[in-house]
Amino acid sequence: MFYKSTRGSDKKLLASETILEGLSEDGGLFVPEQIPTINIKEVSKLERYQDVAFLILKNFLTDYTDDEISYCIERAYNFDKFDSKFVAPIFILNKNCSITELWHGPTQAFKDIALQIMPLLLSIAKDKNNVKNEIVILVATSGDTGKAALEGYRDVKGTKIIVFFPHNGVSEIQRLQMVTQEGTNTFSFAVKGNFDDVQNSVKSIFNDIILNKKLLQNGFELSSANSINWGRLVPQIVYYFYSYIQGLKNNLFDINSEINFVVPTGNFGNILAGYYAKKMGLPVKKLICASNSNNVLTDFINTGIYNRKRKFYKTISPSMDILISSNLERLLYDLSDSDAGYISKLMNQLKEKGEYKINNDLHSKIKDLFWADWADDVETKEQIYKDFKENNYLLDTHTAVGRTVYLKYISQTKDFTPTFILSTANPYKFSISIYEALFGKPEYDKSEFDLMFEIEEKTKVLIPAPLRSLKEKDIIHKSIINKEHMVDEILKILGIKS
Ligand SMILES: *Cc1c(COP(=O)(O)O)cnc(C)c1O
Repeated sequence: MFYKSTRGSDKKLLASETILEGLSEDGGLFVPEQIPTINIKEVSKLERYQDVAFLILKNFLTDYTDDEISYCIERAYNFDKFDSKFVAPIFILNKNCSITELWHGPTQAFKDIALQIMPLLLSIAKDKNNVKNEIVILVATSGDTGKAALEGYRDVKGTKIIVFFPHNGVSEIQRLQMVTQEGTNTFSFAVKGNFDDVQNSVKSIFNDIILNKKLLQNGFELSSANSINWGRLVPQIVYYFYSYIQGLKNNLFDINSEINFVVPTGNFGNILAGYYAKKMGLPVKKLICASNSNNVLTDFINTGIYNRKRKFYKTISPSMDILISSNLERLLYDLSDSDAGYISKLMNQLKEKGEYKINNDLHSKIKDLFWADWADDVETKEQIYKDFKENNYLLDTHTAVGRTVYLKYISQTKDFTPTFILSTANPYKFSISIYEALFGKPEYDKSEFDLMFEIEEKTKVLIPAPLRSLKEKDIIHKSIINKEHMVDEILKILGIKS
């Protein structure tokens, strides 16, 4: 199977080359030339998450051997890394509604599912393509991605990972997660400034031609860990199938039934994997796209107009605070029958005018497949409170956006198709907001740690072990630097004279 760009370059790449390149030179995203189909009855017989993962990955990563794929899967999705043998277990809320928990990995967030395996796929891709340079991953993070990337690349052969986060710009728990990071090839720095400062500095490092040349001469090349790499997308198809398998096993529905998914959405990576799962043969009726107050996707799906010229809100579901959902490009490409010229035109309009409108044919296809709505912070907190009170289930802020939107869907459509809500983070990652949702504003200035333990005491919902033990861990990465010194630090790590 070959991969090509959504913007029309005639280059065709193998899967391993696609994973190495990340983004296409013409600015487009790589997509498979065709989406493979699989026999759903066959898939339904599989027992282990790892077996489903093998089947899906094998269909897409055709230049990897069976042994290579198995090695990556067994190393990524094992009991050391994931605290559930199901990897992505379901919690049955009621007969029609279950929650697929995607946060049982080492950093308690859904990004672990992709970032635990993607570095292994990259390391093998390097060997396959005779890339001798060491790959240096640079990440600017406002919190969750940095930690998930650190854990994913930790001790992966031929790679180093360096994460920069804004000093005073991440939560106490997120900061501790990053500064206590173990591993021989992991580095993290607090940078004075806000997230934009850090992100812009990392961008300018990627674009610094002289620096990149110097790195190459010393046997290093820079790469990013961001979510548009195909290697991050393909592992996400797996839990759509595995949710279905678990639903069948628990007699929530039978083999003739359709199912729906609700996806708390930011960059459109997660829900796009659901679209591919449907194309592969999973009987999905609707993909329900849930947004927070940054509801650019709700408007797009409902009107066919994508308009990023709008106010940006900082919400209690920060991983969904996004106004440009990059992976949407892959969907538009697929639904427009691979019309790269048309996609390039739309993406240029987005860049230059801040908006685009899709044609009616494309819009009606999108409306058949997707349904979209959004929830603000007040509704989200109310839903966390309600579900804990009524169902004794503690939602995280992102998942609660999904749950709120699902209830709007039911009340508007009366569609009671069995539904899975994808849960993208453990609630304790967002302890302050969860505390406020359950008990109101804390009376005096309590630390995030105090609140975490207080929630546990009052709700009896257990804190995941890695979060509980954070306070006892050694601080390994102590540096607080100015953004002007980021390059120096990188050179120092790589042993290059500045
Ligand atoms: C990244 C993330 C999302 C958004 O997923 P996309 O693939 O970007 O749509 C939602 N919730 C959490 C907790 C996340 O970390």
